[in-house]
Amino acid sequence: MIPVARALDALFALARPTGVEAVPLIRANGRVLAQEVTAKRTQPPFGASAMDGYAVSEATQGSILTVIGESAAGHGFDGSVSTGQAVRIFTGAPVPKGTTRVVIQEDVTRNGDQITVNAVETGTNIRPAGGDFSAGTAISAPRLLGPNDIALLAAMNIAEVPVYRKPRVALISTGDELVMPGEIPGPDQIIASNTFGLHALLTDLGAEPRLLPIARDNEASLRHAFSLVDDADLVVTIGGASVGDHDLVAKVAGDLGLERSFYKVAMRPGKPLMSGRLGKAMMVGLPGNPVSAMVCGHVFLAPVVRAMLGLEPAPARRQAAPLRAPLKANGPREHYMRAHLSAQGVQVFERQDSSLLSVLGAANALVVRPPHDPARDTGDTVDYIPL
Ligand code: AMP
Ligand code: MG
Repeated sequence: MIPVARALDALFALARPTGVEAVPLIRANGRVLAQEVTAKRTQPPFGASAMDGYAVSEATQGSILTVIGESAAGHGFDGSVSTGQAVRIFTGAPVPKGTTRVVIQEDVTRNGDQITVNAVETGTNIRPAGGDFSAGTAISAPRLLGPNDIALLAAMNIAEVPVYRKPRVALISTGDELVMPGEIPGPDQIIASNTFGLHALLTDLGAEPRLLPIARDNEASLRHAFSLVDDADLVVTIGGASVGDHDLVAKVAGDLGLERSFYKVAMRPGKPLMSGRLGKAMMVGLPGNPVSAMVCGHVFLAPVVRAMLGLEPAPARRQAAPLRAPLKANGPREHYMRAHLSAQGVQVFERQDSSLLSVLGAANALVVRPPHDPARDTGDTVDYIPL
């Protein structure tokens, strides 16, 4: 058994960034920028008015100016403006040659072609050319792109974005007892559940998961499932990873050439975790218990997928919160406890059995107890992983 941190390091050593592909900007949200990109233009490309009003070369309170034209967004004024003159202007319009400020319309009285300036603000109300960014301004990679980045990339006129290809993940669940949701289970059967939870988790992470047919608890069936792995970057098996009579994953993966990196991690839930390299892919064998599989998804698969997406290898992000009730001392394994976080602090659920998905469903945090963590009191600060 190795500690969680060592297992993560071993996983990072196995995880290879996927290749780079170009996607249209409209599809780039949630993807990871793979190469530095630079602005193709300057923004604003011209000095632009920040307000509706009158562009003037100079004005003081009481100035009377002649309006000689108009500059609207998309339709600038071609001429130039001299002392004693003004141009009607609107937000986003280019400021005409010869003007130094925009007097807002609220500060002006208009009478035919004439305006009287009633007040002059200290600011110019002009957005200078390049005030936002200049041609060549860089966005560095890697970077997980969100909506704000997409807006900036669009303004920079970057219509195609180089991103890391989504890691292809093949999910293999194992067990004679499993049927798919929607099927009618036999009297001894249950529904394959964590397979679907993991599929959702992987999709959210930016991977491209694929469910392979459920492997039954015999070598031929499991071999068949492995034969469908195809060009996956990551193969995830679920269940069949302990040493029971029917636990065939280690045996069959070994026969297929798995170069095992580790087997068993000192954690609760999720001890029988296995990983290694399998041909061109990386393999992670998850425990079958539904909560163990999902917790291992958050603790191990999420950082692995992020590393495959070219992001800095790092454990799942943790935060800290005060306990709402005392906790008993922890045993020798790192414990990930389902808990509910609110403004009052974090409440660890009483029932922590690794088969209880309803408790996971009610949780929005996993409180992390280090090995041999002493008993904790109400108000003590503990680490948690937000769910
Ligand atoms: P195993 O590791 O195969 O011994 O499985 C441990 C427990 O998890 C057993 O109770 C299995 O029925 C259950 N289990 C295994 N795979 C799944 C799955 N994909 N969905 C739900 N439960 C599962
Ligand atoms: Mg099984």
